[in-house]
Amino acid sequence: MRLDEQTRPDFPILQRIVNGHPLVYLDSGASSQKPRSVIEAMNRYYERSHANVHRSIHTLGEEATELYELARDSVQRFIGAASREEVVFTRGTTDGLGLIAETIGRTLAKDDEIVVTELEHHSNLIPWQLVARDRGAHLKAVPVLADGTLDMAALDRLITRRTRVVAFAHVSNVLGTITPVAEIVRRARAVDAITVVDGAQAAPHLRLDMPSLGCDFYVFSAHKMLGPTGIGVMYGRRAVLDSLEPGRGGSEMIKEVWIDRAQWNDLPWRFEPGTPPIAEAVGLTAAIEYLEKVGMERVGEHERALTRQTLEGFARTPGVTAYGPPVSVDRGAVVAFAVEGLHPHDVAALLDAEGIAVRASLRDAADAPARRRRHLARDVLGVQLAGRGVAAPGGGRRAAFGAVGGPR
Ligand code: PLP
Repeated sequence: MRLDEQTRPDFPILQRIVNGHPLVYLDSGASSQKPRSVIEAMNRYYERSHANVHRSIHTLGEEATELYELARDSVQRFIGAASREEVVFTRGTTDGLGLIAETIGRTLAKDDEIVVTELEHHSNLIPWQLVARDRGAHLKAVPVLADGTLDMAALDRLITRRTRVVAFAHVSNVLGTITPVAEIVRRARAVDAITVVDGAQAAPHLRLDMPSLGCDFYVFSAHKMLGPTGIGVMYGRRAVLDSLEPGRGGSEMIKEVWIDRAQWNDLPWRFEPGTPPIAEAVGLTAAIEYLEKVGMERVGEHERALTRQTLEGFARTPGVTAYGPPVSVDRGAVVAFAVEGLHPHDVAALLDAEGIAVRASLRDAADAPARRRRHLARDVLGVQLAGRGVAAPGGGRRAAFGAVGGPR
């Protein structure tokens, strides 16, 4: 049985009928849907065990703490981290990247250099812009080649003795490019730079093993990998975490406190101020267990087949251009595409009319009149335009642009 046939019944939301069609959800890159086991685990937690963690000496407090710490063990296993102390819970990828930038930012000096890439999600760009501005550091970006891969020759030129941080995505959320993490880490380490990997689009799809990637930090969000919103993971290599002062303060990250100073808590709690997302951690455990049961190798195989099918289908379709690495290159299951003459919102509206949820990007806007768009819709996409949601707001330039991700 195909993987999607086998797993579809596990996702209650996929029983919905949208515009008369059974829902097909292709927007998992933005946020994935949740299997019943995740929803039920969180409900059960709230119905039976909720209390605050690490501070309440009663049955519920102990149960909540145990469940929360169990999530850490699950993450450690899932990403192959050497120890549970290397797994820090955050509110998500953006939060984790912000925490790292703030923490490392304090150690940077004027004219230090931060290297990012042109592939970055804003969450892995803006925090470094802020740090560069505050510390008088310089921000440089590795260019992307025409085939969607990173210009590794340029990386060699951009990394210098002044480079303190190299921050980059494992899988691009736009082009689907998989970056050579271990190789970039090797080149960064040659100048003692800290490596920060944005794994938001990788953790849901690839089998991860932190020691073989070798990076200092690796961050991701639970909500893109079948888990709940509001929780993410910041993996930090033990030696690096040990060497850093906490970036943010508050309860949980201190052992003892006086008016003018405090003694920091042990790892990993030193980097987890405030009441953490406890029910969300329970949901994340259930999500990891679900993915492990399916098997990440199987997830990967299924996605590669879907990506090949999508890219080959687009290549045969007049008026459609796909971006990113070609089908022959190992790439993620995100496919960005343009439909000549169509606005991204039109593409999304068309697909929505078919019960297919995808995300439209606002990068480009169309100037094609509504009638032409309707014809293109029928001819290019083979779907009838619904009577609503058709007019492109504001008109604009030429291409439509969307992103389709495979089911996770
Ligand atoms: N980085 C990448 C590559 C992403 O795709 C996303 C979300 O789409 C983020 C970071 C931000 O993730 P979150 O919104 O969960 O913080």
